[in-house]
Amino acid sequence: MSYNPDNVFAKILRGDLPCFKIYEDDHSLAFMDIMPQATGHALVIPKYAAVTLADLPLAYAQPVLAAVQKVMAAQQQVLAAKGVVLMQLNGTEAGQTVPHLHFHLIPAHLSTLKAH
Ligand code: 5GP
Repeated sequence: MSYNPDNVFAKILRGDLPCFKIYEDDHSLAFMDIMPQATGHALVIPKYAAVTLADLPLAYAQPVLAAVQKVMAAQQQVLAAKGVVLMQLNGTEAGQTVPHLHFHLIPAHLSTLKAH
């Protein structure tokens, strides 16, 4: 699939749409998911026009994964998440709805926070 620059994450990267930004560097942007599957559900996207993981040059994969690690560490430290589900869908058949590569980081076991 060719890259469509009108997708919502491209608009967020251009600043044409707002987001709740939690991390940014030269290669990646991280922000909160607008329809979180759990409290603290974040998305990490590359600043590279990739639809799926297969479209991301390996040279970009390392800094993007470094951003994933940073956001995951923040979820564990700030939200006290005991685990984090990392999800990444490739293609509409796999359930991908936004055609810009993104990693879901979904904190797990936040319910333990409420018990204390
Ligand atoms: P996918 O199903 O493509 O893997 O996930 C797309 C994700 O993007 C969904 O979890 C959805 O809630 C999120 N999303 C879609 N549009 C927006 C938006 O405009 N802003 C934000 N922050 N998240 C969005």
